[in-house]
Amino acid sequence: MRYVSQLFQPVITIPKGAKIKNTEITCKSQKLLLECGLVRPTSAGFFALLPLARRALDKLEALVIDCLEAAGAQRLSLPCLTSAKLWEASGRLADVGTELLKVEDRHGKKFLLAPTHEEAIADLLADVGPLSYKQLPLILYQITSKYRDEFRPKHGLLRSREFSMLDAYSVHRNAECANIVYGNVSNAYRDLFGKLELNVHRVKAPSGDMGGELSHEWQLPVSAGEDTIAICPSCSHAVLSEEKSVCEQCGKEMAGCNSVEVGHTFILGTKYSDPLKASFVPPEGPPTPLIMSCYGIGITRLLAASLEALSTEKALRWPRAIAPYSVIVIGPKEGSKEWSNAGKERADEISHQLSSVVGGDLLVDDRHPLTIGKRLMMADRMGYPSVVVCGRAATENPPRFELYRSGADAPVLLTADELIRTVRTDCSDDKRNKAVI
Ligand SMILES: [Zn+2]
Repeated sequence: MRYVSQLFQPVITIPKGAKIKNTEITCKSQKLLLECGLVRPTSAGFFALLPLARRALDKLEALVIDCLEAAGAQRLSLPCLTSAKLWEASGRLADVGTELLKVEDRHGKKFLLAPTHEEAIADLLADVGPLSYKQLPLILYQITSKYRDEFRPKHGLLRSREFSMLDAYSVHRNAECANIVYGNVSNAYRDLFGKLELNVHRVKAPSGDMGGELSHEWQLPVSAGEDTIAICPSCSHAVLSEEKSVCEQCGKEMAGCNSVEVGHTFILGTKYSDPLKASFVPPEGPPTPLIMSCYGIGITRLLAASLEALSTEKALRWPRAIAPYSVIVIGPKEGSKEWSNAGKERADEISHQLSSVVGGDLLVDDRHPLTIGKRLMMADRMGYPSVVVCGRAATENPPRFELYRSGADAPVLLTADELIRTVRTDCSDDKRNKAVI
């Protein structure tokens, strides 16, 4: 259980049109995260993630890990710095050059702060290889900070220069196996977005700088998005599109909307394994380049995009599974009739009971000099999924508590037992799945 009075949460008010660290405030997730004290820019495109945002990101990363591990992927960590030589070998140093943050060590050796690790993985597999065909398919992933020197970072965490990213890589003996694993990882993505209750659309995409044979973008419709997709109102088929188009599945006219790319999946073939000499030994014949795929999810971007999709202009709304805290308890105002009528004790009791259900996911608003109404307003702005208020009814016999649930219009009045049961159900529902289109 954590107390609001102890939170490191520097709340600010941003005047209209103000710039923060030379950056314009252009979307609601950026504004709300700054104003509610969840992030703090350090310079253009770089952010300190403060404790509440860090908690949400930890929960999101844990969900990503669950989904990837269930698909058979194994976690590793590669250095953030990749030798520029590897990017020269793949031909990408020239292709992506201006977006790379480059550094040089004291011996003049050149590195880059990697935005992605295809070269590093291929080099690692070449270094330990050749693999045996019996070791395939192999899926490896990491969640680390990635870097991209955006010309103009904007929209806060939607387009920053440092970000947390999942990058996964699979290697295969043939195209058939690559396709099967591609399908499995795509299903892991669907599980993840389902757990987040986000309508993420998978759309066919050009492979771009990454190269390769097949690729999809995973797009979440939000008005601040810089991409455009068209969605069929009838069958939900979606495509990347600037203009109105007709659904190739059912012939209906599709509706366009802005969206954010939250994930990407590629079958790369041998674009990296060939020049970097990552190979395997087949049952017969000489070592052969591995067929490689890669999969990415911008985790900080996904966090911001989900807030962008769910929040109002005035209040944060989280996918329940990643709210910084699931439950907050608000006790009576100091000196009020309820306070002197054992209201404070009732609030303490119910907090302890709730903490046995949700553990460290419970927040107690102990700023007792503030009215219940004021604290309720602040809890609503923060978007905590369950807000428990100990008002007058909590001092009656039996005590009853108001429960405000995110998404519900009016609070419900519950006894302690009913409240505990409801919160327990809500928390176990966090793992519920919703089909993703
Ligand atoms: Zn259709």
